[in-house]
Amino acid sequence: MSKYDVIVLGSGPGGYVAAIRASQLGLKTAVIEKESLGGVCLNWGCIPTKALLKSADVFNYLKHAEDYGLTVKEYDKDFTKVVERSRGVADGMSKGVQFLLKKNKIDVINGFGKLKPGKKVDVDGKEYSADHIIIATGARSRELPNLKQDGKKVIGYREAMTLKTQPKSMIVVGSGAIGSEFAHFYNAMGTEVTIVEFLPNLVPLEDEDVSKQFERSLKKAGIKVMTNSSVEKVDTSGKMVKATVKTKKGEEIIEAEIVLSAVGIASNLDGIGLEDVGIVTDRDKIMVNDWYQTNIPGYYAIGDVVPGPALAHVASAEGITCVEKIAGIHVEAIDYGNIPGCTYATPEIASVGMTEKQAKEAGYELKVGKFPFSASGKASASGAKDGFVKVIFDAKYGEWLGCHMIGAGVTDMIAEAVLGRKLETTGHEVLKAIHPHPTMSEAVMEAVADAYGEVIHL
Ligand SMILES: Cc1cc2nc3c(=O)[nH]c(=O)nc-3n(C[C@H](O)[C@H](O)[C@H](O)COP(=O)(O)OP(=O)(O)OC[C@H]3O[C@@H](n4cnc5c(N)ncnc54)[C@H](O)[C@@H]3O)c2cc1C
Repeated sequence: MSKYDVIVLGSGPGGYVAAIRASQLGLKTAVIEKESLGGVCLNWGCIPTKALLKSADVFNYLKHAEDYGLTVKEYDKDFTKVVERSRGVADGMSKGVQFLLKKNKIDVINGFGKLKPGKKVDVDGKEYSADHIIIATGARSRELPNLKQDGKKVIGYREAMTLKTQPKSMIVVGSGAIGSEFAHFYNAMGTEVTIVEFLPNLVPLEDEDVSKQFERSLKKAGIKVMTNSSVEKVDTSGKMVKATVKTKKGEEIIEAEIVLSAVGIASNLDGIGLEDVGIVTDRDKIMVNDWYQTNIPGYYAIGDVVPGPALAHVASAEGITCVEKIAGIHVEAIDYGNIPGCTYATPEIASVGMTEKQAKEAGYELKVGKFPFSASGKASASGAKDGFVKVIFDAKYGEWLGCHMIGAGVTDMIAEAVLGRKLETTGHEVLKAIHPHPTMSEAVMEAVADAYGEVIHL
């Protein structure tokens, strides 16, 4: 039996990052993976979707070339090649993880891992043992009982990024990041898209101002938006799928070639031996403490299988924290109040911290500032005037409570707010940090200035 210091079950951004950090800290490490290295993020999530969205962006630029004084006489899309490019990017990233694991002298064990008592893992009949076993088995698309995925007419995200032909029409159920990104992608490529969202606002976790702006932008782009609505049932017997949608005004039947179910994720907990070992779970998640230790000593869990935002950067941060603690390093627990979330549609959305509503409910007295990109020189020059930056400060002590952005490139801009909040910066310190001109990032400085009544360009 092979013996390790650390065995990681699953090689997503939680697992492979934990393994590399463990190896850096001198721990003999193995990763067990049943599919491609890199997990959902690299193979079926963050990366392939961004490749698809890039194609949509380029296509949109071509459509609007005249706005920039350019004549493009002929252009067209090749859906198959767009998908092929996305798959190629994903494969390249997966090979990159393979390289990194090899470089860090980490053993990769291919196969389905099942936990055993006594800090062992069985992989297809062969046993491995370790002092520390980290569960990082991730998640899959969640299925609703009334929206069973058949992989053809009612699909999940994996099928949505590998369709052989582009559907003429699509109903996207759920407007979180995954649903919104696919809705934007397919709409930009020419599919007729309807989004059905159960809650009153699109991207319901975001600040209401952002949700409202997003809805306006999607409608302007030609997407049909149905909020306060739920798909009650689907009839897949005909050529088109007939979806019965319950709205505030009653039931409506809408038709499309394909229904994409984007209603969240379900953790990969089945068959991995949690019951044999006695590891406690609650509502589809493994219960852990601040250091990702389960109730059974020597077994840990990170990433999408534990409570908290299901995001790649969270999984990685949890993996690093978990392993550093195992190695005896003094490490701070993760601050789940300072995690950025991004949606890469057009316009992009990025946010960190409390929404205005949450901050009010928490009893803060607020200073709120907003700067629209319509007043930004860089946004005007770029033809990207939709959107804004909104900042929320505590009026009493100046704490930066939240930052919410919608517009071109904001997913790259949110890091400023994350770092500022981590360093407990105040609004006036942001104002005194000179931002380069002309950039979209000036909007952060201007929004802060607006909160303090010092805005220049409004
Ligand atoms: C369409 C889509 C887009 C997304 N976009 C973003 C984004 O832009 N930004 C972002 O931060 N997040 C994004 N996410 C979320 C992100 O992909 C996940 O939060 C992240 O991958 C979770 O990492 P993980 O390591 O916990 O698990 P995963 O990435 O799910 O990896 C788990 C791995 O474990 C393997 N595994 C499972 N069970 C076993 C077993 N028993 N034995 C061996 N191997 C096993 C799986 O095959 C898989 O490779 C997106 C998700 C989706 C679906």
